[in-house]
Amino acid sequence: MKAAVVSHRHPGKVEIKRISLRALNVGEALVDIEYCGVCHTDLHVLQGDFGPVPGRILGHEGVGIVRAIGEGVTSIRVGERVSVAWFYAGCGVCEYCVSGRETFCRDVKNAGYSVDGAMAEQCIVNANYAVKVPPELDPMIASSITCAGVTTYKAIKVADIRPGQWIAIWGAGGLGNLAIQYACHVFNARVIAIDLQDDKLTLAQQSGAEIVINGREHDDVAAVIQEITGGVHAAVVVAVAKAAFNQAVNSVRAGGKVVCVAVPKGTLDLNIVKTVLDGITIVGSLVGTRQDLAEAFEHARVGRVVPVVHARRLDEINDIFLEMEKGTIQGRMVIDLRKKVPLEQELSV
Ligand SMILES: [Zn+2]
Ligand SMILES: [Zn+2]
Repeated sequence: MKAAVVSHRHPGKVEIKRISLRALNVGEALVDIEYCGVCHTDLHVLQGDFGPVPGRILGHEGVGIVRAIGEGVTSIRVGERVSVAWFYAGCGVCEYCVSGRETFCRDVKNAGYSVDGAMAEQCIVNANYAVKVPPELDPMIASSITCAGVTTYKAIKVADIRPGQWIAIWGAGGLGNLAIQYACHVFNARVIAIDLQDDKLTLAQQSGAEIVINGREHDDVAAVIQEITGGVHAAVVVAVAKAAFNQAVNSVRAGGKVVCVAVPKGTLDLNIVKTVLDGITIVGSLVGTRQDLAEAFEHARVGRVVPVVHARRLDEINDIFLEMEKGTIQGRMVIDLRKKVPLEQELSV
């Protein structure tokens, strides 16, 4: 089967390779992948930002049909549609795994990073960790929920926002647009979207944002937000820019919460006086648990949240990463793995 593999020979590039999968172990299942979305985290993996992983199959936004199950598998059946997420598996017994915080397991396995992922025609999953996709949900939409959707859904959950309260969201691209939709249509919050590109802000408005702010047009974005809302109840940062984090801290009201999702390099400058006197909470939010993913799928199934997705071919993968670096992507690029890549295009680097 064909797979998108982190190149040994060309650092920072992907190679399309033919791979033979090993036999299934106890508790595993083989999945015929239908779609796999391309995430900014894949770019981090590819560039070795979390440590080099040449030879690794990328992809953690996968959806496909169970083709075979190994010994001892009872949680999923052949023919069912399941997802392959960044949270591939936890140890199942540590303090995080047993207290609803399994994504922080110290022995966590991550698809497309520490184990082979779903940017391939087939993928081996740990059956107990492969979350089922509702049959009525379009699989291409479901792929986008598997990382971008659950990550933003969880972030808004962590923000503790109540109906009618203000939430400011930095970044209105693929991730940000979903965050806006969850905040508006699931949590009934009032949304301010901040981005540097007007086309993304137009989409943000169409997705339910009440106020949009282009960060290039204001010297002090936080002051503008304070002026309009008296300070937001929560801020969520999905923009990969250090400045956005500092603006977010300065935009919340007393008792406000700042949820950090994006992972730019560097440190967060925190105004200690404001943090203490205003009782500000700063919290990181990382993807979501299996239960969070099941809930995120359900909101998509009933149409509360509709990701913007574009189908692409596997052999376009290096182009997609270039587009991602340039910031020209609207919505989510999703590799259609049901199509066959012509043989002559197999080695695209
Ligand atoms: Zn991701
Ligand atoms: Zn654990």
